[in-house]
Amino acid sequence: MKIKFLGGAEEVGRLAIKIEDRDSKIMIDYGIEPEKPPEYPLPPEHVNDIFVTHAHLDHTGALPVYYHSFKANLHATAMTANSIKPILNDSLKIMRLENYTKVFNEDDVDNLFKSLVTSKYGESMEVGSLTAIPYTAGHIPGSSMWWFQNSKSFMVTGDLYTKDTNLLSGAKPVKTDILMMESTYAGRDHEDRDEVIQRLKDSIKEVVESGGKVILPTFAIGRTQEMVMILKDMNYTIYVDGMGNSISRIYMETPGFLRDPKLFRRSIGRVIQIRNNRMRKEAIEEADVIITTSGMLDGGPVLGYIDAYAQDSKSAIFLTGYQVQGTNGRSLLENGTIQIAGATIKPAMKIDFFDLSAHAGHSDLVKFIKDVDPETIVLCHGDQREKLQESLPEYNFILPYNGHEFEIN
Ligand SMILES: [Zn+2]
Ligand SMILES: [Zn+2]
Repeated sequence: MKIKFLGGAEEVGRLAIKIEDRDSKIMIDYGIEPEKPPEYPLPPEHVNDIFVTHAHLDHTGALPVYYHSFKANLHATAMTANSIKPILNDSLKIMRLENYTKVFNEDDVDNLFKSLVTSKYGESMEVGSLTAIPYTAGHIPGSSMWWFQNSKSFMVTGDLYTKDTNLLSGAKPVKTDILMMESTYAGRDHEDRDEVIQRLKDSIKEVVESGGKVILPTFAIGRTQEMVMILKDMNYTIYVDGMGNSISRIYMETPGFLRDPKLFRRSIGRVIQIRNNRMRKEAIEEADVIITTSGMLDGGPVLGYIDAYAQDSKSAIFLTGYQVQGTNGRSLLENGTIQIAGATIKPAMKIDFFDLSAHAGHSDLVKFIKDVDPETIVLCHGDQREKLQESLPEYNFILPYNGHEFEIN
């Protein structure tokens, strides 16, 4: 089996793995590094089939670039396919607005969807000598670990979360010879999720009851919806803005992926979804809590809300997702400043961070490896991969680098 990472080996982002085995040539994901402008993986190489683990841009953002030059069947769950549509169209819009080099166009996005083969969790399909089955990865709705059988069995986890959340059930181990696993949190463990949620709710209560507003910058995919569920019992006026609203609609219209669809629908019914600027003005006056994109404060409606409350020391910004180096969110946590329309501002608001990651922590990854008990582990999507290797000296690890082809026999 020949494996080559076109991206995402020693870094968190732009995952793209090419795998050749007997008569099959496949690729897993083809994502971007969501920088300004985005960074792409190595140029596409021809394969017959592409398997997508989940909708996040660091796994899908470069797919239209692939379809600009090549054709291949695209395998994804219905939820992943439906969630990709708005985010790729949004990427096209950003490319236009920011004057980035136009690396793909509307036709490429159309071609991608014309090549789509929808897959279901647990159902096997034959692609030449290859058998493929997606299993839930517990990361966001529709996310898949792809299990394959060819000369050997191998599984690519994509992004992985092994515990149950409000939105999803955690990933379960699947027996396999070769495990290709993400390692975003290698070397780091998360605080107990229930305790973080309690601390977040207590902090929101404190701010709102002292007359302030809480801004919750959230990712559109998965986090917005989980946040709505977390806050469902809090008797406050909650507004939701940004692309998270379209994704919530997709979550309601695509059955079979949420842990408790009825509870999700009820939770969405509790919040006010913002559809226009008039409602945005209303939210600034009326809201106790505003859940809005972007999760790292690099654009989206969130900046308008921060601008509106910046001088109000009773109000707060609570971040809940990983803040990539170089983003406004990271700068807010480290220096208390952000850039809005070219100006640096230092909000007087309270700033706090609550770790609600959708990536398995170090101990969860160790446990997952032991449960799968593979012959070989290929680690990717991490910048501290050796920490996992150190924790499991009895296992055989490969820590590949982008662009270097290697073989497993
Ligand atoms: Zn992800
Ligand atoms: Zn990722």
